[in-house]
This record gives sequence, structure tokens and C-alpha cells, in this order.
Amino acid sequence: MTVVGLDDTDSREHGMCTTYVAAQIAERLRRQGATVSRLLLVRLNPAVPYKTRGNAALAIHTDADPKRAFSIARDRLESLSETADERTNPGLVVAEGGPQDVPDDVSEFAEQAIRKHLEISDATALLECHGYRSWHAGDGRGRIGALAAIGGRRALSEWTYEHISYRDSSRWGTPREVDRESVFDAADWGYPDVWDTVDRGEDEAVCVPHTPGPILYGMRGDDPEAVRTVAERIQSEPVASSQLFVTNQGTDVHLQDGDLESVVDGRAYRIDGRVASEPETRRGGHVFVDLAAGSADDARLECAAFEPTKRFRDRVRALRVGDRLTACGEVSRGTLKLEKFAVRELVTTERVTPTCPDCERRMKSAGRNQGYRCRDCGTSRDGKVERGLDRDLETGWYEVPPCARRHISKPLVRGGFDAPTHPER
Ligand code: ATP
Repeated sequence: MTVVGLDDTDSREHGMCTTYVAAQIAERLRRQGATVSRLLLVRLNPAVPYKTRGNAALAIHTDADPKRAFSIARDRLESLSETADERTNPGLVVAEGGPQDVPDDVSEFAEQAIRKHLEISDATALLECHGYRSWHAGDGRGRIGALAAIGGRRALSEWTYEHISYRDSSRWGTPREVDRESVFDAADWGYPDVWDTVDRGEDEAVCVPHTPGPILYGMRGDDPEAVRTVAERIQSEPVASSQLFVTNQGTDVHLQDGDLESVVDGRAYRIDGRVASEPETRRGGHVFVDLAAGSADDARLECAAFEPTKRFRDRVRALRVGDRLTACGEVSRGTLKLEKFAVRELVTTERVTPTCPDCERRMKSAGRNQGYRCRDCGTSRDGKVERGLDRDLETGWYEVPPCARRHISKPLVRGGFDAPTHPER
């Protein structure tokens, strides 16, 4: 067995896509008589600043001879990578042996690449240590992702699928011809095994990208047959080729359990706390709310639901001081960008100025520590009274809508959460 890992071939302006390069390498290998057993699409730490879009790295599992696989992969990378963009730094690593046979440190490297920041030297040290063949262009940063993709199969245990349909190269950069109605119908047919195909609330076909690259559409889900069938139900311009990928998308594997005192920028967490400030909508429509460990004096962490998270912001605006939450998301410059949160306990009462039982008007303060009274009727109360609150939230998990989902974030519809869920679709 041979595992081919590759990364960093595309450019935001010029297009291309590493999944396409991997599919092309697989195609060449097959044409030369090799068997390709699997293509792995591993999403790495979404917080790394070098990423073009979704921080994807790819691995090809094949029975091809490692030397032969290396030369085919290098040829495809050299001709397809968008190296005209100085931020594109392709990397290729080829390991001999099966994907489950990789050494412990390569598997750990993959785990770290999903949750932390790594240096190029971390990758080159391992490449040398294990004698892996490698190639790179530019600064060679792509070797981090390439090596992580090789370790990914052993490092991770939860997998989903994406079936990607590619455009004919003559159409790259032109508007995509995809029949919207067929996309929404196919999405209904495939749901809930196939998720994040469309955003019904925003009326958006999420599976069709807007970038200049080769992808026509990609279907994501729990079942390989279902994602393929949903793709087949779409009416569109001709599909030039297609490929099924095994992925860690939709798994939340980037999240680590954290606490409010010890969060670090550039990592993603699952954090318990209490709402410590009234939600505030700031310029641009971004909504902010503070989370504190216990009392209001404890360490606070600002949490944000940015404008692109659309209707999710209403959920955040519905929070009140004192609500107990688990908040999930990446911390960047000291702010947690909310991807989902669980309401553990809602504040259901508030203390208000009493009303007069006779005239039903609000009582007035009778002076410092003297309680309240109604001057007209002569009634009085010792202090504020408790009143029930109507809440627009229930306990359980809330999430951003499909149009704002990060590739690696787990949609609630996939299940396995520790409280009731309120899935967006
Ligand atoms: P592409 O479709 O080309 O893969 P992308 O959005 O996935 O685009 P890349 O262009 O691959 O992003 O850029 C990500 C770069 O960051 C790669 O060079 C990769 O090796 C590197 N990288 C990935 N994860 C980490 C990490 N945890 N620490 C440091 N560098 C990383």
C-alpha cells in the first residue's frame, strides 16, 4: 500500500482546488493499472491564517508502487497548482505502507494539525525521520497538510462523505448552470442523511460554490450511496468527472474542551459558562455577548455571532444574563466565534418593581431600603418582586444555518449531542 498526501494547490483569485488535483492523480493511477481504494479529504485547523478557504488536505490510498505514485502526483501537482499566487505553497508527501500503519507521531501530527498551529520544521523533521518521499514549491508549507492527510486516517475515528462533481475545464470561471429547483428537490430527497445541501431559510444552494474553481457541486452526508444519488438528481451543465471523498467534515473534531481562563487564540473550544452581559448588536449586524465562569466578577470571554450567521443571531439576541450555556467555536483575538451553543439552564424569572394591587400602577420607591408604595392607594411592598419571564429559547443545542457552516462543524441533524437539538436546514 501507498499513501499520497497533498495540500496547498489553489488560489483565491486564480481558482483550482486540491480535491480536483487529488481526483486527477487518482485517475492517472487508475489508468496505469493501479487500484485506488479511497480518497481522504481532511479539514485541518480552520483558524490557520494561511488557508485559502476551508483548509483542506488530501490523501490517496492506493496499491501503486510508491516511486511511481510519487512521480505521477508530482507531475499533476506541478502542472495544476496555481503557483502564480505567491500564497500557494504546494506540498506532496508519499508514505509506503497502509494508512492505518502510519507511526504514532504521524497520527499525532494529524491530530495537532486539526487543533493547533504547526511549523514547517515540525513536518520536515518527521519526513526525515520516517524517510518519506516529498516535494514542494514556494516555502513548502503544503507539506504540513500533506503529512497531516497521511496521518488522518489513523488519527480520526468519525467519517462522513462528500461526492464532488467537477466542471469541464472550458467552463471554469464562467457562471455555473445548475437548476435550482432540482437542487432543492434533491436536498429534500436526501435529508437527513445528506445535509447542508441547501439553506432553506436563506433560499441558497449551499452545495454550489461561487469561486472560480473546478467544482460544480458537492454533496455531503453520512452515507456514500445517498450523496451519490443526490448528485445524480441534479440537473445542470455537463459533469466532466466526479469523485467520492471520505472526510472529517461535519464532525466537530476541531473542538476541544476548554475553560474560560485558559483559552488560546487560533484554537476552537467547547466552553461552559454563564451569560454575563446583555447581547449587543453592533455596527454591521454582528451580535456580541459575554460569557463568565460563575459570578459576574469571574474571567469573561466575549462571544460573537457575525452577520453572515444570519438567523442564528436571533438565538444569541434571545439570551439573558444568567443563562447557563456551552458555547462552541474558534477563539480569535480573544473573541469566540460562535458555531453552536447549548442552553443548559434558562433564567425564567426577573425581579421587578411591584405594581399596586388596587390600581395596577407601578409603585414608587419609598426611599432607600424602605421598599415601594403606591401614594394614591397607600399600598406598599418591602422590595422588588419576582415575575415570570417568557423566553424565546428552549434548553438544548442551537447552531448557525447551513449557509454559515464551517466544513468541519457538525450539523445538529447528525445527532449524538448531549441535549435536545434545534437543527437548522
Ligand atoms: P486548498 O483547497 O488548496 O487546500 P485551503 O483553504 O485548504 O486550500 P491551503 O491553500 O491548503 O488552504 O492553505 C493551508 C496551508 O496551511 C497549507 O500550506 C497547509 O499545509 C497549512 N496548514 C494547515 N494546517 C496547519 C496547521 N495546523 N498549522 C500550520 N499550518 C497549517
